[in-house]
Amino acid sequence: MEAYDDGSTEGTMRETGRRGSATGWAVAGGLALVAALGVTGAVALTGGSGDGTGAREEAVAAPPRRTDPGVPPANPGAPNGDGAADTGDGSIPSARQLTPFDTGHAALRRLDPALLKAVQAAAKDAKEEGVDFFVTSGWRSRGYQQRLLDEGVEKYGSLAEARKFVETPDGSQHVTGRAIDIGSADADRWLIREGARYGLCQIYANELWHFELREGKCPVLLRDASR
Ligand SMILES: [Zn+2]
Repeated sequence: MEAYDDGSTEGTMRETGRRGSATGWAVAGGLALVAALGVTGAVALTGGSGDGTGAREEAVAAPPRRTDPGVPPANPGAPNGDGAADTGDGSIPSARQLTPFDTGHAALRRLDPALLKAVQAAAKDAKEEGVDFFVTSGWRSRGYQQRLLDEGVEKYGSLAEARKFVETPDGSQHVTGRAIDIGSADADRWLIREGARYGLCQIYANELWHFELREGKCPVLLRDASR
């Protein structure tokens, strides 16, 4: 869940030269995506709760990649099989673009195997249509989830507000390996449209990038992670 998990590409951040907390980027990413979809599309996707306001400043092509600036790699020089440092807690360095096939990374390796398989199948089919999937967040350790929540509280000023965007370690499906965040905005649009065929469902109206496995029809969207 965690609204601020963001789908994303890095370009946005580099282009704007702005840095922010993971939460900030996630929210910015979501708003950017809403903006990219257009107000009409956003309203349709969010069941009428999205109005796209506030999105102008961040109206860029794709939501930014999740950043986790407070967490340096435990062993920055260590290759993990695909040439990138992996802290083992599921966090993905901002310089990394993981695909659903980078299973050497803990964020993917520790996902529910059925979810991983579904995402890989969808990614293959999307690729045929010219749409690339990037994994902006997958499995997370409890400690990593807690850090994200703490950052959210700092950003939004209260736990109640933060909880609209970030789950607790006990509540997060990322911690159980049953949730994945996908970018770019194009990939999210593709997956919202086609995901049910793979059992992949958007769950929260305010998190266009967050998908979980469901059987049968996708459920009615929840407003946000605090519901
Ligand atoms: Zn998520």
